[in-house]
Amino acid sequence: MALRFGIDLGGTKIEGLALADDGREIERHRIAAPRGSYERTIRAIVDLVTAIESSAAAAAGVAAIAGPGRATVGVGIPGAISPATGLIKNANSTWLIGRPLAEDLSRALSRPVRLANDANCFALSEATDGAAAGAAVVFGVIIGTGTGGGLVVNGRLVAGANAIAGEWGHNPLPSPEEDERPGPPCYCGRSGCIETFLSGPALARDYIALGGDHLSAAEVASRADGRDRRAIACLERYERRFARAVASIINVVDPDVIVLGGGLSNISRLYANIPRLWAPHVFSDRVDTQLVRAKHGDASGVRGAAWLWPSPATIGS
Ligand SMILES: [Zn+2]
Repeated sequence: MALRFGIDLGGTKIEGLALADDGREIERHRIAAPRGSYERTIRAIVDLVTAIESSAAAAAGVAAIAGPGRATVGVGIPGAISPATGLIKNANSTWLIGRPLAEDLSRALSRPVRLANDANCFALSEATDGAAAGAAVVFGVIIGTGTGGGLVVNGRLVAGANAIAGEWGHNPLPSPEEDERPGPPCYCGRSGCIETFLSGPALARDYIALGGDHLSAAEVASRADGRDRRAIACLERYERRFARAVASIINVVDPDVIVLGGGLSNISRLYANIPRLWAPHVFSDRVDTQLVRAKHGDASGVRGAAWLWPSPATIGS
């Protein structure tokens, strides 16, 4: 039985699953992430892989899945591997930064391990057997507490020379209106980043700015489905901003499909409204790019980590 293991290393939890060749989920386990300790993070991942491996063996009716390297392991991380040093960078789980995670995990698991940014794993999952299966150029977007992104071309992840391909969230919001300049301050040190307008917390903040209550983004969206005029105005403004932000992606990589994941991808009206609004900002007489909701939902990160194998290599680095 050929198995792929995927690990999604989050800030608060670590999820692991075993995928069969046809994308069937064989086993899935979830544990709390040890916070603040690199060594305990490595140990937790090794324990998780061991647990999945023995459950998968039991499910297959064998005592153990024999031989070293019997299942591949891919890991989605909240950061990137610096192509220059091989060390983790840009991770909000800061105890990973500057560590040779791929090397240490490979040694601990006695097999090569592939790592990729979690938004890249999301894009790979949806491009492999999700909402964008079969599409040539896929841009995956995760909108939740932040705004991650990943690019897959012809089934292969594009990592990029700086390992930041798809990281659109810290570009400035395109074509800002008067009241959008300089924009909210961002943790990256600049102001007016796309993330400061499109993340879940940004949407919630904007509702307050329009005179509304302190609600979650999901609650604002649900009020917009009713007759809350502030919530409707807030969502309309959000959609116009979203349309401008993705139009600039379309102008550069011209994807066949843009897949949305993360909490805000559950807002149904986005899929009809944003494509109507992006046309004036795209340099083309017509726009055939599809905007779709992720098929695998929250599971796409861990599924994409598993799909990091056996594609031979990512493009770039
Ligand atoms: Zn920023």
